[in-house]
Amino acid sequence: MLAIIKKFLPLLKIYPWLGPIIITLGLLASLAEGLGITLFIPLLQTSNSVDSSQSSNYFLRYLDAILTGVSTQQRILIIAGAIFATIIIKSTLKFSSAVIFSWYNCRINHRLRSGIFQQFLNVSYKFLNTQDSGKLINTLAGETWRASDALSVLFNAIINSCTIVVFVILLLLISWQLTLLVSGSLLVISLIIRTITFQSKKLGKNAVNVNQVLTKLMWEGFSGMKVIRYFGREDYEQARFDRASKNVRDTFFRMHVLSAVVNPISEILSGILLVSMLVIFLWQNSTSLPTLLTFIFILYRLQPIVTKLDGCRVSLAALSNSVEDVMYLLNSSDKPYIRSGNIAFKGFKQEISLEAVSFAYNSGDKIALQNVSIRIPQGKTTAFVGTSGAGKSTLISLLYRFYDPNEGAIKIDGRPLKKLNLQDWRSHLAIVSQDIYMFSVSIRENIAYGRLDATDAEIISAAQLANAHEFISQFPAGYDTIVGDRGVRLSGGQRQRIALARAIISQPEILILDEATNALDSIAENLIQEAIATLSKKCTVIAIAHRLSTIEKADRIIVLEEGRVVEQGDLHSLIERQGLFAKLYALQNRHVRISNS
Ligand code: ADP
Repeated sequence: MLAIIKKFLPLLKIYPWLGPIIITLGLLASLAEGLGITLFIPLLQTSNSVDSSQSSNYFLRYLDAILTGVSTQQRILIIAGAIFATIIIKSTLKFSSAVIFSWYNCRINHRLRSGIFQQFLNVSYKFLNTQDSGKLINTLAGETWRASDALSVLFNAIINSCTIVVFVILLLLISWQLTLLVSGSLLVISLIIRTITFQSKKLGKNAVNVNQVLTKLMWEGFSGMKVIRYFGREDYEQARFDRASKNVRDTFFRMHVLSAVVNPISEILSGILLVSMLVIFLWQNSTSLPTLLTFIFILYRLQPIVTKLDGCRVSLAALSNSVEDVMYLLNSSDKPYIRSGNIAFKGFKQEISLEAVSFAYNSGDKIALQNVSIRIPQGKTTAFVGTSGAGKSTLISLLYRFYDPNEGAIKIDGRPLKKLNLQDWRSHLAIVSQDIYMFSVSIRENIAYGRLDATDAEIISAAQLANAHEFISQFPAGYDTIVGDRGVRLSGGQRQRIALARAIISQPEILILDEATNALDSIAENLIQEAIATLSKKCTVIAIAHRLSTIEKADRIIVLEEGRVVEQGDLHSLIERQGLFAKLYALQNRHVRISNS
């Protein structure tokens, strides 16, 4: 139990003052309830004319002393009134505790979700690359709920424990011998329950795992739908999905059975205990009937609380894995981050230079860029050419500082990129690619993503410059057309033009062009080329170039192969060299001729 509570400590620290308040309210409610129950003894004794002034119970003698001289009927009224008052106090305290707890729980839940989302946005890609995205989404969407549920179970466990302590003290005051007998038996009951708890904990871990496998398959089923159908793998995928789904079904069923078995077992055992106790008590006949009745009444109230406590322990054991999962993601001390520098970046003036840059995605991986030294001058178009896997996209990722080089340095106008304010720097870049993500919102919002405060007029003008206005206007809802998963599907050329409008509106100084490898139809191609040509007059352009037109217009071409710069220069000098570029260029030319013929 202590080990489980330890896991919760970071969660409890989120609102450190609220936990004690909720627990104190719960404790006061149990005190009020205990007092109310104890008051039944003098009430029953008064109505049976039993003299409590000689009672061994301090509380009963004290009450008797207060009420000396008061008539029997008045005594009954006063004590009944006091019992009623304790019920109201108890209920008010429980209600306040429930309201505060609900406030607390919802906020914790929000904090966890928001914290994990923030972590996704800030943690280095180095970490994200090593994670299973299905698992990450599952933790964000599902485990955060289970973690805050776990907190509610934990508080209930603490309040129930306090209530049990209060009730046990009352029982001890009434009859310590009987109380010892009851406690001994309860210990045995709880040991039996603990054995079940252990099994449940194991199943809880299993449940998280099988659920993750299923979420991953759901995710893959949707994302890979086309590939599944291309290859006619529907039956194979269905069988895989069904296996995982059945696994979830069976694991959860076993877990629910285990949780459900706790109640009947503890009720049967408690029942046996109660009956044996009654028999012993009546045999001895050593205490007055009202006291005996109150003892049993307290025990009856205690029994569901003990059962609940056991239930809490079972749930906590199962839920603690979710807390662990959530806390692992939230923990920032064991994850890599790209830290922003603090030099404000006001504008790009001369050049970007890479000095002996080497980079591998993970230690032990093949090197993605090796000893790359290049210069990208301001105001010019620099094209990167190379076969797939040569390192072109990696280079762009390094420029965006998604990763830092393992060796060497990237400098902007002579200042290390690492020292520049990251947001400043990125706000001067814009990327246009066919793969760029479109959010499931309107086209207007997708364009305005480049500058959130853009006016409608600016959005339209950007779309016009990007040659996108015409096709957007043809949609019935125009700029309000929803795109992405829930909306219209855009063609590659249309997506690229919206991406271009998004880039235009952000008024970048450096435009990064990630050209589509697949051919667009020639109308779309021309429209895009035209728009880019206008934009590139004002920008430094860095292009991952596949199109001949871009390559031919570039001021400088850098040829990459297996992470190294193998050639660089202008078009003519590279063709004359008769090296890798000349080969790639000849291939491209042939392709263009073939597709034009
Ligand atoms: P290009 O854009 O020229 O096709 P990339 O920059 O995508 O090439 O890839 C360069 C090398 O880095 C390749 O060997 C590729 O397998 C590897 N690589 C790319 N992205 C990752 C990644 N996220 N994790 C690990 N390796 C990667």
